[in-house]
Amino acid sequence: MQEALWTAKLEKMSDLKYPWQQFVSDAFLASPESAPSRVNIAERAIAARLIEQTEPDMNERLALNDALRSLQVLIRETRTRGVHYHIRWAQIPLLDWESFNTRVDAEAAATILARIGEKYRIEEQGEGCQRCRDTAKAKSLPLARG
Ligand SMILES: [Zn+2]
Repeated sequence: MQEALWTAKLEKMSDLKYPWQQFVSDAFLASPESAPSRVNIAERAIAARLIEQTEPDMNERLALNDALRSLQVLIRETRTRGVHYHIRWAQIPLLDWESFNTRVDAEAAATILARIGEKYRIEEQGEGCQRCRDTAKAKSLPLARG
């Protein structure tokens, strides 16, 4: 009930122009426990958009960049410190920054989301993880192709 209300509010607020934005708003509405997998779903929607034949126009590109940055902030806020897990995707390295609290979470997300047939492996990381540090440094992602 509550969640439906918030979804309606968010839709109104941000005026969802592109289909993938629904997944991004889902991620922000998710509970802390389900946020990591929701973020992953949102990223997969974004990644799927990026590999489509039709290139995003300038407005959509800005929206994509915005969404990726917001998701990075969200995942940093929801992640507990210490041991965590990354999914290393073979073909879409820009998604590697995402972290999971447990290996089971990472496996579950990877299994569900490896729908385009990418290979992946789960990596265990500790405090001072280089990948998370790189993420913190990267302010935006290169969305232009070619
Ligand atoms: Zn990490």
